[in-house]
Amino acid sequence: MLSDQDRIFTNLYGMHDRSLKGAQARGHWDGTAGLLQKGRDWIIEEMKASGLRGRGGAGFPTGLKWSFMPKESDGRPSYLVVNADESEPGTCKDREIMRHDPHTLIEGCLIASFAMQAHACYIYIRGEYIREKEALQAAIDEAYDAGLLGKNAAGSGWDFDLYLHHGAGAYICGEETALLESLEGKKGMPRMKPPFPAGAGLYGCPTTVNNVESIAVVPTILRRGGAWFAGFGRQNNAGTKLFAVSGHVNTPCVVEEAMSISFEELIEKHCGGIRGGWDNLKAVIPGGSSVPCVRGEDMKDAIMDFDYLRGELGSGLGTAAVIVMDQSTDIIKAIWRLSAFYKHESCGQCTPCREGTGWMMRVMDRLVRGEAEVEEIDMLFDVTKQVEGHTICALGDAAAWPIQGLIKNFRDEIEDRIKAQKTGRVSAVAAE
Ligand code: SF4
Repeated sequence: MLSDQDRIFTNLYGMHDRSLKGAQARGHWDGTAGLLQKGRDWIIEEMKASGLRGRGGAGFPTGLKWSFMPKESDGRPSYLVVNADESEPGTCKDREIMRHDPHTLIEGCLIASFAMQAHACYIYIRGEYIREKEALQAAIDEAYDAGLLGKNAAGSGWDFDLYLHHGAGAYICGEETALLESLEGKKGMPRMKPPFPAGAGLYGCPTTVNNVESIAVVPTILRRGGAWFAGFGRQNNAGTKLFAVSGHVNTPCVVEEAMSISFEELIEKHCGGIRGGWDNLKAVIPGGSSVPCVRGEDMKDAIMDFDYLRGELGSGLGTAAVIVMDQSTDIIKAIWRLSAFYKHESCGQCTPCREGTGWMMRVMDRLVRGEAEVEEIDMLFDVTKQVEGHTICALGDAAAWPIQGLIKNFRDEIEDRIKAQKTGRVSAVAAE
């Protein structure tokens, strides 16, 4: 188990003072100017050495991403944009950072922006996060008053402004290019890539979009060294990570743990075990609602990192939002609910997603009731394959994968329900 002195987030549960004074007492904003004085190249190399992979779901190496930004300006300014539009069902980790430990993020914004030669950074926060916005804005105001932001930020010689932008509650604005569109005042619709944001992002200028957690861990990594962070987890899956465990565990929680912890240890040490014991575990969605679900018996020995969950189980770590479902769950209905979510959130600009999400949801709706033919299961799988990889952004994949996971892992249950419907024996749960 991760020891307390190795935790980056020291006020995750809001038990301590979240103000600047409290944050400084816990070691934040300590020697920030000194870190900046070591230079842009040193910061990026240290981030590369840390092995940090983006915490927003895709897992792209953060240091490498930063190195794509232009070294010399061609006259255009560079921007850092922090994606705080945390809207995926099950994912609630960045929220704890913003409302209880906001200075980790603010200090990270200054350092990361300096490394990318950005004098301005925008944090785009989810529309529903009202209290989080208030907490974060209060912390930003405090930082300005203390000279940590603004001209000669933290005495570093670097001028830096930080803006908090409140979204309006659309899930798709968590997609980085839709977020940029929204920030520019337009409808939040994803852009075609390329060009990638590092070439032409916000207002057509070089931009890096990073997740809240990815930025909030930066100051501690630099203070303690990339090698320290790289010491946690398996090769290529380094560091500590916030896990957000919800569903049928005895004590759902958000907890910082070492990457590559086993699923069993995560659940036993932090979540009080599975409700009703391990035999009662039915399924797990290990990385936020857009990754395929896994059967309970396959999860028990799983290693919670990017490579294991993708390579061994055909799922993914995503945002490490772990949704646990016990035997009382109607898994078909649970996945139907996700289908309804993605259908609702599709921005509608590409046909496979606009039509496909609705089509998939309607078939799922019938599968919940068992009012379908067995052959339609393959047909549905086929449609998910036609949506996957054929859309402008990853929402199409996000809608397809949960259904693929359901069919791969719980096909027997779908077939049983169809047969039961035909013989008039539909379970009470499904009939609700
Ligand atoms: Fe919009 Fe869906 Fe296309 Fe993404 S995949 S751009 S959400 S229609």
